Amino acid sequence: MALAGARALLDLIFPPRCVVCGASGADLCAVCAGKIRRPPAPRCARCDTPLAGEIAAPGGLCRECVTGVLAPALDRIIVAVVYEGPVRSAVHALKYYRKRRAALPLAGLALAAWRASGLRADVIVPVPLRRDRVRSRGYNQADLLAASVARGAALPVRRDLLARVRDTAAQARLTASERRRNVVGAFGLRPGAAPALTGRTVLLLDDVVTTGATVQAAASALREARPTAIYALAVARPPLPSSDAPEPDL
Ligand SMILES: [Zn+2]
Ligand SMILES: [Zn+2]
Repeated sequence: MALAGARALLDLIFPPRCVVCGASGADLCAVCAGKIRRPPAPRCARCDTPLAGEIAAPGGLCRECVTGVLAPALDRIIVAVVYEGPVRSAVHALKYYRKRRAALPLAGLALAAWRASGLRADVIVPVPLRRDRVRSRGYNQADLLAASVARGAALPVRRDLLARVRDTAAQARLTASERRRNVVGAFGLRPGAAPALTGRTVLLLDDVVTTGATVQAAASALREARPTAIYALAVARPPLPSSDAPEPDL
């Protein structure tokens, strides 16, 4: 309550501005919020990718999930919205312009998608960022998103379980198969992490997923501790996963 009161007082002195267009009154104004789209249905029951053509059956799986291209380490991917327009601007504000406040409306979108999924988790684990990125940015955007989602979902956040063990090339210019190869072995369990994961349901959190290669690689590392299930929650995914839109910067 004290925190909420402090926030209300701060909002009075410094009214929030839309992180996308600068309009006064809210972290994301109604006009910008109105342009945000959920990914079109039907979507893959496992990775949430919009389905098209002959495989477009509700409850169905996409080709990658059927053929096992997506490693079974991850049970589900949940994507809140399409990475375009105001969402893209807000993610850029958070990642490239150091507007930490942009994490709040983005986390709100992720939280709504998580609630709508009907799934349950015991712990939230933000996807660790490359160390040089954390140094240059001053923070990991997934940490900020995870903290905000965790408050809303009343779940603990653990940043001390998963580590980047290998720095990888930036994903943005790589093809889907190159991205998967690029992140293999990029993550590892931290010493002593297993007891917090064994028999638990883990929710990985990241800002943007494209091919899902990053969250798959993170899940592979977590899987060593034998959790009951691993889900990944992302704020957004580009409309065309094969496009050169940025995978979260690895
Ligand atoms: Zn706006
Ligand atoms: Zn799928």
